[in-house]
Amino acid sequence: MTTAHFRFYAELNNFLAPWQRQQCFSHPCSRDASVKHMIEALGVPHTEVDLILVDGISVDFLHRLQDGERVSVYPVFHSIDVTPLVKLRPASSGVDRFIADAHLGLLARNLRMLGFDVLYRNDYSDAEVARIAAEEGRIVLTRDRDLLIRKEIVRGCYLHAVACDAQMAEVLGRFRLAQAVNAFSRCLNCNGLLQSVPKSDVQERVPDHSRKAYDRFYECTGCSQVYWEGSHVARMRQRVARMLGEEDEPVQEEDGDRK
Ligand SMILES: [Zn+2]
Repeated sequence: MTTAHFRFYAELNNFLAPWQRQQCFSHPCSRDASVKHMIEALGVPHTEVDLILVDGISVDFLHRLQDGERVSVYPVFHSIDVTPLVKLRPASSGVDRFIADAHLGLLARNLRMLGFDVLYRNDYSDAEVARIAAEEGRIVLTRDRDLLIRKEIVRGCYLHAVACDAQMAEVLGRFRLAQAVNAFSRCLNCNGLLQSVPKSDVQERVPDHSRKAYDRFYECTGCSQVYWEGSHVARMRQRVARMLGEEDEPVQEEDGDRK
């Protein structure tokens, strides 16, 4: 056995035992244990770590710990660019896509409302989530750290918050998504894209009062659900603005008009 000295920063402390938080502590490691193995043995999923310094030098997950080394572990930086340092995972290519675990249906719907591609089913097993994430290059959203420790998951996001609006803020902030919002472009139910359709194409599927009151209609290319710019959409837009920090007015949570 060897002994290394660990210090975790910021929200990574939430994963540690209370006596290990916000301070340097020593921990025995099996000979030649990788730094990734030790970080996860201490309870911190690899997906939450963005930078590891060993005796002040940036290392990757495969670094083999030696006796007496000092390990500093950092989460994703929001304000500091660590690009020149060793990257722990490949950079994302293109627009971020997500898969939410079976407990995060409301978060999935809200991210879809902002136009983000989020797979979700309430009967997904952990194994399915991990497999689909690996096959499709999706970011796993979950509050289950055991799921994030699965080695086939490359990118993930542990939601520290329980409340959905706070979870939204975590995802938008961590992946810097504010500029990528394309609200009301995606179906809340099936994740399909919405397309604008003439009123005449969908009038049999819209209640009389809505057909008379509104002119802009959309149909989901996945499940054919019809959406329109009804009275709830103003509240949805207000809520989106609040999620993006553009306004502070509390508004009631409500889905858009649809049938
Ligand atoms: Zn749909």
